[in-house]
Amino acid sequence: MTANLTDSQTTRLACEDLDAADPLASFRGRFDLPPGVIYLDGNSLGALPKATAARIQHVVIQEWGVGLIRSWNDAGWFDKPRALGERIAPLIGAGPGEVVIGDSTSVSLFQVAVAAARLRPGRRVIVSERDNFPTDLYMLESVQELLGDASGALERRLIHDDGPSLDEVLDEDVAVVVLTHVNYRTGRMYDMAEVTRKVHEAGALMVWDLCHSVGAVPVDLNGAGADFAIGCTYKYLNGGPGSPSFIWVAERHQSSARPPLTGWHGHARPFEFGVEYAPAAGMTRFRIGTPQLLSLAGLEASLDLWDEVDLAQVRAKSLQLTDLFIALVDSRLAPWGVEIVTPREHAVRGSQVALRVADGYPIMQALIERGVIGDFRGPDLIRFGFTPLYVSHADVWDAVEILEDILATESWRAERFSRRGAVT
Ligand SMILES: *Cc1c(COP(=O)(O)O)cnc(C)c1O
Repeated sequence: MTANLTDSQTTRLACEDLDAADPLASFRGRFDLPPGVIYLDGNSLGALPKATAARIQHVVIQEWGVGLIRSWNDAGWFDKPRALGERIAPLIGAGPGEVVIGDSTSVSLFQVAVAAARLRPGRRVIVSERDNFPTDLYMLESVQELLGDASGALERRLIHDDGPSLDEVLDEDVAVVVLTHVNYRTGRMYDMAEVTRKVHEAGALMVWDLCHSVGAVPVDLNGAGADFAIGCTYKYLNGGPGSPSFIWVAERHQSSARPPLTGWHGHARPFEFGVEYAPAAGMTRFRIGTPQLLSLAGLEASLDLWDEVDLAQVRAKSLQLTDLFIALVDSRLAPWGVEIVTPREHAVRGSQVALRVADGYPIMQALIERGVIGDFRGPDLIRFGFTPLYVSHADVWDAVEILEDILATESWRAERFSRRGAVT
């Protein structure tokens, strides 16, 4: 026992050493995390930056309460979706004038998928992936129906790791390919440039969903030659619950793109209140209606923080944290049949690790009760997101230690851990 204790102490000390040398360490103090919590779910809902509450309060009390309607001009409300888009651009390899804040990610996916498909008239196939986040597939069903004709809806082809592959489904009928860069369940990451190249070779356009990429891994949309992209701001970007999506369109497509949802904030002259729609120039045409300004206040506060972050450091630490977690799971959790689903190869790994384990649901509930917050994705995956701005190496060590204890003592078998809430 003593020998084990010494071993483990040494290893935790090694983790503390890594934390002491961590160039991102100071960011942790910029977040409000409850004491005793190891938060490994920032890939679902990012943590709260300390500056956010005051920023939202300022918008409520000053800009709304005092400024009232004048704040549309005086506080820059009307321009906010463009202004914040410009600040997301450097995180995704986008240029000036290429990013605008949208609505929910689901709505924005619809906006760009239709706009993309309309640039390839006559092609009747939309390609996506069976393991994509379901809302993406659901929204694409509407795109297929909307753009169908007398002969029926557009055809859907779904790729899968067990086949068919992208190469097998691509041909001259494919209009658009819609893929999520980092998979929400497994954390597997695509080679953006290589996939985009193949899609273009078939004459189709590429739409990337960056929900699990932005703020987690460096992304270079222009470098990859991509066409359209959308992503979440409430996951790794820490914009707050319900903070809106962003939309990126390569500059070369902007003047010909025709998004389906044509609201007054996307109009060329919204305050002429004319009876006919005329699309605004550039990314503004992807806007729809009045932006969610309170949510944007939260996003703005989080972007102040991102302005200071070096994404290469984020990626380096993310790989260190996930490598450490994988190594500890390998060495300590094998007796309970825990299987690592996330790729071990750096080039194809995002910033999360998924474990396959029987009884994953009650095990995750037991972990959460002990202060280690991850989540469960049925039927048998427990998922851990590693957000380098506020997760430390010592957190990773402690999380595995607690998980090992829960498995060894089978404390997860207590009945209360099997009750399910509406959200897992
Ligand atoms: C989180 C996520 C979404 C969420 O869509 P909402 O409209 O914001 O609910 C969509 N797609 C992917 C791939 C996601 O990971």
